[in-house]
Amino acid sequence: MNEYVSEAIVLEKEPQGELDERVAVFTRSLGKFSAKVKSSRKITSKLSPHLEPGNFIRVRMIEKGSLQVVDALKRGKLSGPPDFFYLLGRVLAEGEPDEYLWTTLLAGVKDWRKILAILGWDPEHASCEHCGRGNVFAFHIASQNFFCGPCAARSRGEKIELA
Ligand SMILES: [Zn+2]
Repeated sequence: MNEYVSEAIVLEKEPQGELDERVAVFTRSLGKFSAKVKSSRKITSKLSPHLEPGNFIRVRMIEKGSLQVVDALKRGKLSGPPDFFYLLGRVLAEGEPDEYLWTTLLAGVKDWRKILAILGWDPEHASCEHCGRGNVFAFHIASQNFFCGPCAARSRGEKIELA
């Protein structure tokens, strides 16, 4: 049984079954992954307030077949629009730590142009995947393509709008 302790940013939390929750976190040492917050209502209610999206936490997890959060302590909260951390969870790859992204997020940067550039999708010189226009407005998560405004409005699926 492996145990991990890391600083982490909570990306998403959702109920699982009747008593459990599942959280997605971006950790400093292991990158993004999701883990179960286990079963007793009592334990969940103790940990749950520490595991709100945007929280900066110290988390302890064990690996027993899958990852499970056994302890979490909120150390701060990063501000951001409600969907910011959720969308971040959609674009981060599992298990890829990124120290530069980590420090950038902790510094409070929420500019998607900067964040996407760090992740290797620089919108600066990108052009619309559909029509080729240079002034991109949105990043389409599923296809990892940039779209201009009109093409973004016609496309389906989750998108990150660039300020
Ligand atoms: Zn276009």
